[in-house]
Amino acid sequence: MKRAATLVLLLASSAHAFSIGTGFSPGCHERLTAAVYGSYLADLPFRGQQRPRGAAWEKLSDQFSREFGLEAYDDEKRAIIVSLLLGVRAPDTRSHSLFDLSRTRDIHLDPLDQRAHALRAPGDDGPDGDGAALEATRQHIEGRLDEALRHLDDTLTVRLTLDFYGEVDVEVLRGPFHLGEALHALQDSFAHSLRSPDFRQVHHVLNFVDALSSTHDEARDGLRHSSGLDECDGVGAPAAQAARVASLEWIEALIDEGPAGANRVMAGWLERREGCTIDNGYCGNAFLSAARGNATRSPLSCAASPGVPLVLLAAAVMLRRRRRGRPSFVSALLLVACGPPPQTPVTPACAPVSACAGSLEGTWYIESSCLLPDEGPAPTCEAPQTSRDLTVAGFVRFQGDRGEGALRGRLREVLARPRACSASGRCDDVEGLPGGYSCVAQGAQCACARGGVGAEAGTFSVQVLGGGELSIDGQSALACAAGDRLRLQLASRPTPLVLSLRRFP
Ligand SMILES: [Zn+2]
Repeated sequence: MKRAATLVLLLASSAHAFSIGTGFSPGCHERLTAAVYGSYLADLPFRGQQRPRGAAWEKLSDQFSREFGLEAYDDEKRAIIVSLLLGVRAPDTRSHSLFDLSRTRDIHLDPLDQRAHALRAPGDDGPDGDGAALEATRQHIEGRLDEALRHLDDTLTVRLTLDFYGEVDVEVLRGPFHLGEALHALQDSFAHSLRSPDFRQVHHVLNFVDALSSTHDEARDGLRHSSGLDECDGVGAPAAQAARVASLEWIEALIDEGPAGANRVMAGWLERREGCTIDNGYCGNAFLSAARGNATRSPLSCAASPGVPLVLLAAAVMLRRRRRGRPSFVSALLLVACGPPPQTPVTPACAPVSACAGSLEGTWYIESSCLLPDEGPAPTCEAPQTSRDLTVAGFVRFQGDRGEGALRGRLREVLARPRACSASGRCDDVEGLPGGYSCVAQGAQCACARGGVGAEAGTFSVQVLGGGELSIDGQSALACAAGDRLRLQLASRPTPLVLSLRRFP
């Protein structure tokens, strides 16, 4: 019960996804990966590699840089991040265009390929199917990691179908590419299963293949895949946040302990809680109604399923006999008819919490976290501002004037300097940095981050004092709940930790 208080105290300094246009909503895997891996590029075991040939990877690198704010890397790091991001994208596209819907659907329906997405295969039936699917996913991730480490110095040519350009061959670094594939399955295990409140244990693994058939039987085949849980934002945000923490733990273990450590961490996140079945609501899982509310169904059931990408895929099944390639007028119409859920961008703004008297009753899951910015002097080239960046996942549950919760998080250290300290203005040439830091341009500053500087996990107890004031393991905290949203401010030093949470029934 003491450990979260330790977490709060350890934050001695300050500062602070899933699909790819199909599956885990747009670009979520890339967002999760780009956000997480920038701080580890200098430590990944891929240095001294040959540079990929051709200009294609550089063009993609420019695109990713714009999309994910990675404008600052030197050639070596750019090659790693492009390869990693194409790898984390590959299982959902198999290097085909996302608009090429007929082929995308084929990929997702390949029965043998379900493990690449941490889903049940057609034979994974009943409660035993949960264990079988998790074991297959573990083996898949181990295999991809092994492949990555056996080909550290190799390159690989990936054929991409880019919309408006057609097919393009891109040479990438094989190590980071396979690392990305492994990461895809680990991240999908958060979007494609029902987990315990602290996300550590899997209660149930979802089913995509059978969900699209008319003979789907939940007791036998498992709960249908859910387009809602598959989102980086919205109801999928807490799971995406946990996937981020798992991705960080996995890469830190790989850097510190090698593949055995990475595999141990991965297996820990894929642990199964037995005895969770349809009869007991999968051990009373809090995400069950959200999953059912956005369930993937057989083709063209827009009304029953707002899960647009899958409905579109289903539409493509009908169209593929007539035409291949570009999205047709019919699928464009379906897009209008079914409509994607509006994307609420995750705003990284970190504002202090003003206590308010809203009802705290229920279970709340962390969607995002940040440390309030430091009030210290503005950074100069000689004296950078040191701060911390926190990624944390978990839950808090309130009942009456008592509460309990669990958090798990990773810290990064961030050194901020004025962008003017970089001669190129891109922050890739900041001088005098200690080893292990990777810099990105952030507004008027170069933010140079290093991962692996701290981690904490633990449970805590809460006393509700009223009027939005709390005591968490004896430390004062502030809360403000409005509807299904809650913001909490925990008294860490020198800058408070702010958590944004969402209530699940
Ligand atoms: Zn996937």
